[in-house]
Amino acid sequence: MESYRKLDTEGVRAWIAADAELAALLGALPWEVREVSDGNLNAVFLAGGPAGALCVKQALPTVRRDESWPLPLDRAKYEVAWMRAVAPHVGRAIPRLYRFDPSLYVIAMEALSPHVILRGGLIRGIRYPHAAVAVGRYVAEATFATSDLAMPFGRRFEQMALFARNEAILRISVDLILNDPYMDSPRNRCTPGLADIAADLRADAPLRVAAAGWGYRFLTNPQALVHGDLHSGSVMVTETDTRVIDGEFAFHGPIGFDTGAFIGNLLLSFFSQPGYATAGDDRVAYGEWVLDQIPKFWTAFRDRFLELWRAGGGGDAYRAEVFADPAGQAALDAARLKFVDAIWADTVGFAGMKMIRRILGYAHVADFEDIADPELRAACERPALQMARWLVQNPCGSPSGMISGIGGVAL
Ligand code: ADP
Ligand code: MG
Repeated sequence: MESYRKLDTEGVRAWIAADAELAALLGALPWEVREVSDGNLNAVFLAGGPAGALCVKQALPTVRRDESWPLPLDRAKYEVAWMRAVAPHVGRAIPRLYRFDPSLYVIAMEALSPHVILRGGLIRGIRYPHAAVAVGRYVAEATFATSDLAMPFGRRFEQMALFARNEAILRISVDLILNDPYMDSPRNRCTPGLADIAADLRADAPLRVAAAGWGYRFLTNPQALVHGDLHSGSVMVTETDTRVIDGEFAFHGPIGFDTGAFIGNLLLSFFSQPGYATAGDDRVAYGEWVLDQIPKFWTAFRDRFLELWRAGGGGDAYRAEVFADPAGQAALDAARLKFVDAIWADTVGFAGMKMIRRILGYAHVADFEDIADPELRAACERPALQMARWLVQNPCGSPSGMISGIGGVAL
């Protein structure tokens, strides 16, 4: 077996050339290979030839953006396991997997083109009319299929055990999302103008208890295989097509962790919009469009999840045989509605958790970071943080209640 080495563009070329099937996908030489890494963790290359293109992703022995932070290579194995687990259920919502090389920890997958990262589009003020609905449907299809509503428990427990071994990556979520922002950690940082609100938040005992509650729920509610990092940087879009990428944080956890991540990032985008105002465009209308995506996303998730469940499950929970009579069916349908309402409550709490970590924790988001003026950036981040504090402690309501809650935040 070949031993691990970091691939550069030449290395990627040679690795593809050694695999006749992959080489055939590109066609005759010459091939163009370029690095497009922009995430925190891995190296990503795009390779193109006359017949087609490939995306080649390699796990590195450290965090890509911080070489002093070691990270096990086998996270690539979990990304592949996520692709294999959800692919049969989500249609073309994720890129097609072509190859996994377990000695170099390299994944070859469908190159998405001309797709761009949704976050980048939101920063530029571009409308993607189908993205929120597509991501909502993706979450419903991926999570329903890997829950006890659809999967016999033996298989699900096996899958849960597999992903539970993705410990180093899960440790990142546990530390950076669930705990660091609520204590003095050397990894935390924030825009200087936020020092007062950061100190105030860390002194807020009820908030810390509420956040710890979401942490506990993350650890103890393995409802389904969730993506685990479903922010707007894990979604690639065109005007008409939407794909979810980068599932290396997948694990069996609360479904609301995914829906909350997506909505939390829409809210971050909303609050960042004044940072991009120009004389010709104050970005107010665009901010409203971003907010409109929240109910669209949630309704798409909820409708698809209920549709799949009503069509029949096949899992060991809420078995159809138990509810065969009309009274049973009516009671079951009421239970289904309660079930998705509980996912909404989780969604709200985790949305708040995700927003706080992106403003006060280690890894920030381009939505705010790209606002060059620190005062303007702080002015955008401040109401986002207020909103997040409210969400973490008030996990009820509805998407419209969430949006009208923005009015209660000092804008
Ligand atoms: P990381 O795990 O480091 O966060 P990502 O999976 O998010 O890496 O990929 C980093 C970047 O590479 C993405 O932001 C995107 O620009 C590009 N990319 C990733 N997957 C694909 C793909 N299948 N097709 C085209 N570009 C991709
Ligand atoms: Mg990423």
